[in-house]
Amino acid sequence: MNYQWYPGHMTKARRMMQEDIKLIDLVIELVDARVPLSSRNPDIDELGKNKSRLILLNKADLADKSANKKWTEFFQQKGYYVQEVDSRSGAGMKAISAIIQEACKEKIERDRKRGIKNRPVRAMVVGIPNVGKSTFINTYAGKACAKTGNKPGVTKGKQWIRLNKNVELLDTPGILWPKFEDQAVGMRLAMIGSINDEILNIDELALELIQYLRNAYPGTLEKRYQCEEAAEKEALQILEEVAKLRGCLIKGGELDYGKASRLLMDDFRSGKLGRITLEMPEEA
Ligand code: GDP
Repeated sequence: MNYQWYPGHMTKARRMMQEDIKLIDLVIELVDARVPLSSRNPDIDELGKNKSRLILLNKADLADKSANKKWTEFFQQKGYYVQEVDSRSGAGMKAISAIIQEACKEKIERDRKRGIKNRPVRAMVVGIPNVGKSTFINTYAGKACAKTGNKPGVTKGKQWIRLNKNVELLDTPGILWPKFEDQAVGMRLAMIGSINDEILNIDELALELIQYLRNAYPGTLEKRYQCEEAAEKEALQILEEVAKLRGCLIKGGELDYGKASRLLMDDFRSGKLGRITLEMPEEA
């Protein structure tokens, strides 16, 4: 779940993706709805050129509803098919099969003209680590789907999951590397918990989140932590109030900022602060 990337990782991920992508008609790209740009790697546009493209705004349950709508329009305007999903509950999944047919209609039509009947559309799921690829595949493919393709032990090869009579999905997702060299992106990925907390300064992360929430979601901190007029206060002062309220103390009675920071980040990541999106299309 947590990871550190180095050039060797990226080269390998890219090579595997290049091979797998040859086999498919449609790229199903998962992004995190709370950070739809920061959780993408635009290299997929080059890797997936000439393929049908579907972007899933995953973890839509944790993101702001109105922001989800804006991001859907944003990506649609760029020519992608888009769908909001919650891969844990399965919300939004029902629409996907019809979207896949629509996204691949040219291929289906080409097949038909050539007299090829009922060749299923082949798709693969791609995305950065922790975006929900495995959860999506499990929920979407469900238990009802039988694996097709090569028999284990006979031929080594790709396993395809037959979703319905028209669609097959590669059972292993493609892993895209995050754009961690961009500092603002790194910060947002850290906020959603995609970067190992141990290699981060959790206090800095919490203070950054407080500043963002104060401006973008007024009332949020007030509601959860009973701090009044958060907009008027320094971020550190608010963290102090969280520490006091939640009894984050070290021996001697001093405030434990680290503990308060972790508490705040956990509240955010688990949705206890409400549905929050960390970046908006207007800024993109
Ligand atoms: P992968 O690394 O891309 O395969 O990501 P996983 O499928 O392992 O998911 C990472 C974490 O995100 C897990 O804790 C999942 O339970 C959680 N998760 C995945 N999809 C969703 C979603 O739509 N909503 C929420 N709230 N959590 C999700």
